[in-house]
Amino acid sequence: MISPLIQKVIDLFSKFPTVGPRTASRFVYYLIKMPQDKFNELINEMTNLKKMIKICAFCFNPYDLIELSENEALCPICRDKTRNRGLLCLVEKESDLISIEKTKKYKGIYFILGGAVSGLREEELEKIRVKELEERIKTPKTFGLSDADFKEIIIATNPTTEGDTTALYIERRLKSVQMPNNKEMPKITRLAKGLPTGGELEYADEETLSSAFEGRK
Ligand SMILES: [Zn+2]
Repeated sequence: MISPLIQKVIDLFSKFPTVGPRTASRFVYYLIKMPQDKFNELINEMTNLKKMIKICAFCFNPYDLIELSENEALCPICRDKTRNRGLLCLVEKESDLISIEKTKKYKGIYFILGGAVSGLREEELEKIRVKELEERIKTPKTFGLSDADFKEIIIATNPTTEGDTTALYIERRLKSVQMPNNKEMPKITRLAKGLPTGGELEYADEETLSSAFEGRK
């Protein structure tokens, strides 16, 4: 019989992305065997992570509070006045944003959808931040981006079946959005084909990713 305490922690780790019960139990036995000082360090860093990392009010990108003085609500990208606030790039997750930033070709701002959908069932659709996206496109000012005026929205989901389903769904949703003051809905574009199908943005090389941006339509 497995100890209820051990089982409890296994259940918690099992909820992590891509971690199943088997990997979760390896984590737990690893933790049990860990030297006390290493264990303390881990707990310490986890606490810091929760305390010092904030989620951007506009794009949902996590950022470090350490370098900041006050209660800044925006991440460094959204705060950067030199970035083009007429361009909004939609990505599935944080690591996709980092891959695009590495190309140094894109100078607009982002929005992190929080995942991709595999179908159009209600519980699937709830996995991504479409409602939040619509609100930010309509009134960016409410979310801290006072001078944003989007002219183009680039859908940069992964070149996978899920990524495509997500892109089509978002496109459809955005087309029915009523913009305030009779403003026009920004132009919606997608990355050019050429990224390896079934692959993910984070594994694409910088050159391929850069040209996918340049060839978007
Ligand atoms: Zn941000």
